[in-house]
Amino acid sequence: MRVLPISFCALLVAITAYGCASASDPEAEGTSSSSAEELSSAAVTNDLPVGTVLEATTDVNLRTGPATSDRVLRVVPTGARVTVVASKPQNGFRKVDYAGTTGWTFGAYYVKPGTSTILFPIQNRAVVDPPSTWSQDQGVDIATVGAACGSRAVLVAVADGTIVREGISGFGPAAPVLHVEGGPLNGRYIYYGHALPARVPVGAHVKRGEAIADVGCGIVGESSGPHLEIGISAPGGPTCCPGVHQTSGEMMSLLLAAYHAK
Ligand SMILES: [Zn+2]
Repeated sequence: MRVLPISFCALLVAITAYGCASASDPEAEGTSSSSAEELSSAAVTNDLPVGTVLEATTDVNLRTGPATSDRVLRVVPTGARVTVVASKPQNGFRKVDYAGTTGWTFGAYYVKPGTSTILFPIQNRAVVDPPSTWSQDQGVDIATVGAACGSRAVLVAVADGTIVREGISGFGPAAPVLHVEGGPLNGRYIYYGHALPARVPVGAHVKRGEAIADVGCGIVGESSGPHLEIGISAPGGPTCCPGVHQTSGEMMSLLLAAYHAK
């Protein structure tokens, strides 16, 4: 599946629309050594003081050790809070206490309560399929309820920045690329695949929350139907686009935090 980025994307969207397993399942944390390594650059895997409270952004396993081969003690449900009991993470896993049970859990699926680095790209949550249906390839695929598109599914800038490009092969003729200016993601590029039309021209400076495009109606790019694929460049990487699973775990973590933020 990793060598078929675009066409697999379309297939995956078709599948997830019917509720198949996805990357936010508890079993998906650290499913390969590369995913743990790629996430090690994200802020969520930094050392944290013992006693720090974190909130789960999805259902995630609590294990006996810092690896997916370690036994699952229980599942920490979405929105539950855990307390950090060891400052240093290992292999992307944190040692935490959850309701009296101490174990290891994958750090990328936690945020500090009430914080979100990016704004969620679709502000009308009513048209967003739930996180359990999202899937990762180069970016994160998010389908809409009832194939909502156009003015019913407006895409906003997830951070302040400049639209530096519109139109990406495989993602449609108007798919925008946002250059982030300021904040923790300063200098990174975020693409919005399968968007149509764009609502601002190339070169536009946009504020976090400003409408920049719509989820395209029909088939836009290599796609099976209306959805957003949103992804982020590697630090120092090209404008577009990252490799399959290169940064998708980081994007998923950012999106989950944003989705659950008030
Ligand atoms: Zn995709």
